[in-house]
Amino acid sequence: MTSPHDDDPLGRPGGERAGSMPYEVIGVRRPIDTVVVVPGSKSITNRALLVAGLAEGESNLCGVLFADDTAAMMSSLETLGVGLDIDRDVCTARVTGIGGHPSVASANLNANQSGTTGRFLLPALAALPGRWNLDGDVQLRARPFDDQIAALEALGGRVESLDESGRLPMLVSGAGLPGGVVEVAGDVSSQFLSGLLMSGPLFSDGLALRVTTELVSRPYVDMTVAVMRMFGADVTEPIDGGSEWVVAGGGYTAADVTIEPDASAASYAFAAAAVTRGRVKVAGLSRDVLQGDIGFVEVLADMGATVIDDGSSITVDCTDEDAAALVGVDADMSQISDTAQTLAVVAATAEGATTVTGIGFVRQKETDRIGAVVTELQRLGVAATDDGDGFTVHPGEISPAVVQTYDDHRMAMSFALLGLVNEGVSIADPGCVAKTFPGYWSFLEGLGVSTSFILALDGPAGSGKSTVSRAVAEALGVAHFDTGAMYRAATWATLDRGLDPADSDAVASMVRDLSIEVAEKVTVDGVDVTRAIRTPEVTAVVSTVSAVPAVRRELVRLQRRFALGRPGCVVEGRDIGTVVFPDAPLKIYLTARVDVRATRRLAEMESKGLTGPDLATLDEITADIKRRDLADSNRADSPLRAAADAVVVDTSDRSVEDLVEEIASRTRRVWEE
Ligand code: C5P
Repeated sequence: MTSPHDDDPLGRPGGERAGSMPYEVIGVRRPIDTVVVVPGSKSITNRALLVAGLAEGESNLCGVLFADDTAAMMSSLETLGVGLDIDRDVCTARVTGIGGHPSVASANLNANQSGTTGRFLLPALAALPGRWNLDGDVQLRARPFDDQIAALEALGGRVESLDESGRLPMLVSGAGLPGGVVEVAGDVSSQFLSGLLMSGPLFSDGLALRVTTELVSRPYVDMTVAVMRMFGADVTEPIDGGSEWVVAGGGYTAADVTIEPDASAASYAFAAAAVTRGRVKVAGLSRDVLQGDIGFVEVLADMGATVIDDGSSITVDCTDEDAAALVGVDADMSQISDTAQTLAVVAATAEGATTVTGIGFVRQKETDRIGAVVTELQRLGVAATDDGDGFTVHPGEISPAVVQTYDDHRMAMSFALLGLVNEGVSIADPGCVAKTFPGYWSFLEGLGVSTSFILALDGPAGSGKSTVSRAVAEALGVAHFDTGAMYRAATWATLDRGLDPADSDAVASMVRDLSIEVAEKVTVDGVDVTRAIRTPEVTAVVSTVSAVPAVRRELVRLQRRFALGRPGCVVEGRDIGTVVFPDAPLKIYLTARVDVRATRRLAEMESKGLTGPDLATLDEITADIKRRDLADSNRADSPLRAAADAVVVDTSDRSVEDLVEEIASRTRRVWEE
């Protein structure tokens, strides 16, 4: 099972941008068949953070999403005096609420690119005593707030747009307001209503909110009400087609809340099953979750996918060879518009046209999403039309292209899926996924990695790992991958560029831009370093470079990429069984006595002409091996050790032929299973 919260690759630290170079998606050679965990729901995280921050007392949130949008909410709340104690590793946040009393009288708050942060904070700020300057980045400044401002002004709130009317930045003069009855439009964004609802308990008499137009994305409003109730709010929903929500005053009380996995993020995993005609199970979701976007699986079911909900996970299965191919559908996506782009890419691989309706309002999201979908499908050679309140996709051959993403995370995440089954699909500005899913690229790579045919071979220097793994790969007729050569290549580049190996920031940023290839030859940015990476100078500092977490993150990502889609692979290193491929069906850990290992290393270096009067002696090699063992075993990130389920083999007194024969036949047995 892959998880976005592991140390490494599947969980880049929140907010880290993947860089501005286009990201070329690596295709999968067979249908995906995997189980995944997706990050926590952005929508619930930002609601729960705000409400817990406004509550009296300490709340504990589990399953929190750490991404750019939630970081914007967190920092704004902290500015108001909310206490936040977060643990990214376990996705929790302890929130000490201000109970309606900010610790400052005025502040600048920045929602950055986050629409939920802006629209959820604004009504709360109007009700909290103080002077608040609310701003966002260029993209959010272009998005409308008019309907929300009009509602707040009708309640006696004072909101002044400093630039363009109805847009950020705004000066909000908050005060204890009585509340009352107010009208609000529902057809531009349900975030307006959600924000007003959540501010309701801050008004002394509460709020009655009348929606005057058709309400888009109603499931998000239901989610808002559900979260408010978790924190003790008293909310009455409209009955019998009515349109009035009533929220009682009286504030919020602290609560402990578990946040569901993000159903919109899960749509990419489900769609990956669809486009590869494979099977993906997403843990922690069911049809009963608070998020309307779970309804995306029903659209896939209409197209012919099998959907299985076992109460604690949902599987989308498109592997039934007897069933017809996925067929195009007509879908009103007004309630699940964040998954319309995901459907567009599935539609491009289906049989027959798909028409999406009811989503005219998504032109006001991060970008004009209808226009963007149509333009980018056309760029890939797929016929698509802009129908005003939706789009139509006519499946067809996909040609290579760099897909433009318009700083819209959902354009990047959805269109990348087409690269799983088509050569040459690249995604421009891949870093934009950090808005809601910072680990997306690793996640996507993890989806395609079938670990069913990987032999993970770990062990310390001189244990026989290299010789044995090469010979085993040859005996099995599969690829061999020496991950140590990657760490050596990164170390060679560190020395070549004159960097201090102990300067982990400099080394990490240099490695991020390196192109390392490990095959018959090892190259760094095209330079052949096959010999240069084996010199004593490189060996002396490789443990320092390989202990830098950001270096490991980058190289592990490349290692998974290498294995992606290969029909079998022997991967050797230090952490292959523990970190890189913890799901590998067979893990071997080779060890040997230090004296034996040093003798082997000396012989290996002599054979490569790397020793001589000024170079390493047996004593020096022994000392070096002991030093590296110590460094590799004691580093905080991915220390050298045998996985709990590894087969440990002492090679001290064994011949290479004997070892190869044993390991190759064990591997064959496991792979055949
Ligand atoms: O296998 P080799 O001796 O060439 O590896 C060189 C160094 O690279 C190791 O001492 C270790 O510090 C690092 N390494 C690692 N993780 C791997 C492979 C190698 O940290 N998977």
